[in-house]
Amino acid sequence: MGNEPGPFFPFGCLRIAQRADTLPPMSLGPLTSCQTCGNRDLKSVIFLGYLPPVNILRKIGSPHGGEPWFPAEMLHCSKCHLIQLGFAADPNILFPPEYPYTSGTTRVLRENFADLYRESKEMIGLKPEDLVVDIGSNDGTLLKNFADGGHRVLGVEPSLTAKLAEEKGVKTMMAFFGTKATDEILKREGQATLVTAANVFAHIPDVNGVVENIIRLIGDDGVFINESHYAADLIHTVQYDTIYHEHLRYYSVLSLKYLLESHGLTVFHVRRIPSHGGSVRMYASKSSAFPVRDSVQKMIAEERALGLGDGGWIAPFRGKILLSKLHLYGILSKLRGDGARIFGIGAPSRASTLVNYVGIDDGIMEAVMEVKGSKKIGMYMPGRNIPILDEAKLYDEQPPYALLLSWHIGPELMKNLKKRGYRGDFLIPLPTPSIIPNGSVS
Ligand code: SAM
Repeated sequence: MGNEPGPFFPFGCLRIAQRADTLPPMSLGPLTSCQTCGNRDLKSVIFLGYLPPVNILRKIGSPHGGEPWFPAEMLHCSKCHLIQLGFAADPNILFPPEYPYTSGTTRVLRENFADLYRESKEMIGLKPEDLVVDIGSNDGTLLKNFADGGHRVLGVEPSLTAKLAEEKGVKTMMAFFGTKATDEILKREGQATLVTAANVFAHIPDVNGVVENIIRLIGDDGVFINESHYAADLIHTVQYDTIYHEHLRYYSVLSLKYLLESHGLTVFHVRRIPSHGGSVRMYASKSSAFPVRDSVQKMIAEERALGLGDGGWIAPFRGKILLSKLHLYGILSKLRGDGARIFGIGAPSRASTLVNYVGIDDGIMEAVMEVKGSKKIGMYMPGRNIPILDEAKLYDEQPPYALLLSWHIGPELMKNLKKRGYRGDFLIPLPTPSIIPNGSVS
């Protein structure tokens, strides 16, 4: 790492303004043609209204600062079946240097990345001298597995979480991934044997440019592994709460295969993984050394049966979202009408969409609990005056109801909260809003 301008910034003299220089050229604002194939026939799946960016949080007690809100409409492309957002917000706003999300705080993710290392090392036959580049490397949780395995690693991460990675010994370039960052990596490190992108490939505008730069890094022999939230799970469990501006695209195997194949990559293995309430891991390469496994056709057949190869899922999905919202509001309304106090549990990004779309304000939910050490403690929920506080308050005050905003890890969460001394009942917002009595949790 040197002192010259470019994507490598030594942390001691970090110049935030230059971070923006690494942003690839892109078109922001309303998206009127498919992000992958350019088709203009986009059908609206659902419009959740205007929502605030999920990771911009105002300090408790600070005045409103005119925080931005953007339209959140999910669209479906009739040609390549990509499910996508109809508006691209500026990544400089969505991913500020002080981005509060850290991968390492979630057990499911830590375990998943350890599994990714074991599986990919074996499948690709990774050698110590091989370079592994992780896009959106955050605090280095994924790459630490490869570094501990003795491989050369490099993270690409625009937020200051990059510093946490460096502290773990994971070499990280503080930049947005794009042509400039790719040039720099090729110049300094050479080509990569493996490029990974976990929960970031759907976040970057100009998806075709991103794929081209990944191909420049892996060449004809390397492998690209993408992990993204899986459209089939999203639809099946009515996860409207994962619709927010960071997620520009919601991938099925069908739509991702279309994209990668249009750039000459072959998808050779796919597998469902538990991250974020249901995700998919996909392997792709140009090399014939990786024969296509049965998993690919198997998942595509399942997707066609679910209607993902046409628009058959759209109307039922929209109907379920609307009913689910009304049902949840009905439960909350009855409880608050009876004077019951309600706390929220967990402030993941998705909680922002849930509270803002359903219309949950501080009159309905008093506070949201986060585990000690969370960077979100001391802030308000985006778009709301609901304070995010240390979980200790839950055990001190024992509100009769706790709404699980991290419902996708509900069973584990309820067990832990009960074990730590919470005696009230649990409210599950999705997929079917319900009340789980404390006594039935074991
Ligand atoms: N990969 C980690 C994981 O799976 O837990 C982090 C995922 S987090 C949802 C998305 C990360 O991608 C953030 O750390 C964000 O700063 C980063 N990011 C956003 N845009 C990026 C870009 N253009 N290039 C590289 N990283 C980006």
